[in-house]
Amino acid sequence: MSARAYIVPVFVPHWGCPHACVFCNQRRISGANKPASAGDVKNAIQQAAAFLPKGGKRQLAFYGGSFTAIPVPDQEALLGTAKEALDRGEIDAVRLSTRPDAIDDTVLERLKAYGVETVELGAQSMDDEVLRRAERGHTAQDVERASRLIKAAGFRLILQMMTGLPGATDESDIETARRLVALRPDGVRVYPTVIVRDTALFDLWQAGKYREHTVEDAVRVCAKIVPLFEEAGIPIIRLGLNPTEELSGGAAVGGAYHPALGELVKSRILLEKARALLNGIEPGSRVTLEVGRGKTSQMAGQHRENLRRLTDEFSLADVKIKEKPEADMEITLHLYE
Ligand code: SF4
Repeated sequence: MSARAYIVPVFVPHWGCPHACVFCNQRRISGANKPASAGDVKNAIQQAAAFLPKGGKRQLAFYGGSFTAIPVPDQEALLGTAKEALDRGEIDAVRLSTRPDAIDDTVLERLKAYGVETVELGAQSMDDEVLRRAERGHTAQDVERASRLIKAAGFRLILQMMTGLPGATDESDIETARRLVALRPDGVRVYPTVIVRDTALFDLWQAGKYREHTVEDAVRVCAKIVPLFEEAGIPIIRLGLNPTEELSGGAAVGGAYHPALGELVKSRILLEKARALLNGIEPGSRVTLEVGRGKTSQMAGQHRENLRRLTDEFSLADVKIKEKPEADMEITLHLYE
């Protein structure tokens, strides 16, 4: 079994970003307010040494901005402090997130020299019109080019995508997922759009120019996207924004903000699988759905909503759930008298 990984986060909110993308307010999303310094990196590492359990892999992570677009002397000050800690064995890896148009060979050589292991790219969409309306300032081709360079240079590549941005449809979001799969990342994060206060998206929404991507919209489209990554063996390391005090305290005013979004999506995937199995079943049937270990509540749905829906849609006389020893997402259908 591999050792547990612990993230030691250092937030660099909006640092290096050429402008604000319409949906983004990193100060509110991350709760951090100022760019990090070498001193913050040292503090984060010391705190990790004091509070994290021994034995896991400690990854220092620069999040929340466009790291490789930060002025080079500032990047080097942060990375230099991280590298010293790496060399002393106080941390085991360094990761950072950045924009696709802030990656080239020179940038990657710098990251290599400082021992960076993982580069996380905000792709967000592979539809150029959606990228334009989100004011991302890069194209889908930039995502492909940057991803290839990162992989060719031997880094671990993590790609982030969003659903429900202005101009996006379920089809365009599913196509984005397909194109990300083709880039063979080592992991993905899927962030359904949340409307955060003090963003251009908030203004568009208030002006009636953006239709909110609701929790239901996100669950519907993510239930199609998640299996694409899973079938390709690409881990989904996050689905939905991490709940924070700031977001839950009023900064998230609409959109797909839900603390258990991942659970809702898994529950929907099981509902769709059960529907496919029940298709054509005789009305009045009594059925047992045999699901993976620990999947009973996901199959039943919140407040047993999935079971209610299946009972109504297929006029079932009764539906039961039982678990099998394997913890997978497959379902077997049994009929009983
Ligand atoms: S989404 Fe990324 S690039 Fe855009 S403003 Fe936020 S941190 Fe910067």
